[in-house]
Amino acid sequence: MSEIKMVAPPQGIEGQGFFATSIDQVVGLARSKSLWPLPFATSCCGIEFMATMASTYDLARFGSERPSFSPRQADMLMVMGTIAKKMGPVLRQVYEQMAEPRWVMAVGACASSGGVFDTYSVLQGIDKVIPVDVYVPGCPPRPEQILEGIMKLQELVKNESFSRRNSPEYKALLASYGINVN
Ligand code: SF4
Repeated sequence: MSEIKMVAPPQGIEGQGFFATSIDQVVGLARSKSLWPLPFATSCCGIEFMATMASTYDLARFGSERPSFSPRQADMLMVMGTIAKKMGPVLRQVYEQMAEPRWVMAVGACASSGGVFDTYSVLQGIDKVIPVDVYVPGCPPRPEQILEGIMKLQELVKNESFSRRNSPEYKALLASYGINVN
């Protein structure tokens, strides 16, 4: 018997010899199962990401085995580690270089909130400089938590409207960060 498991089809109308669904759902399904990560790792949480990529946790099972170190070929910016305030503009530049649609995960306490480093030099959460889609708690989060975060993001991606990136709400969100929306 074949061990190949098929992904469940998106919602639609089916009958003998046909299956009809919407473009939103097909595109959402394809995008959610092929999120290429851009690891932006500055400290300890990055090690957990390495474990998440390796054979035991095997991020390839989620279609994300291909890390992209070019922002232009990445879908999912994964920020892992303490981000100094001086690093904020660099992180933002990387985000701006990513093509739409793009998603962001804050992995670990430092990226999410500054963690234990409540000091003058540390950014108290990357959402001070870029919008974040999913936060993963923990110091550090275990690989299972990172995988959980990726599955949460996959749900968001799968259900995102095809036209969301052109919506006034999304443009307003970027504008609130002072990010060029053109
Ligand atoms: S959250 Fe904890 S483990 Fe992660 S980078 Fe910060 S100090 Fe290191």
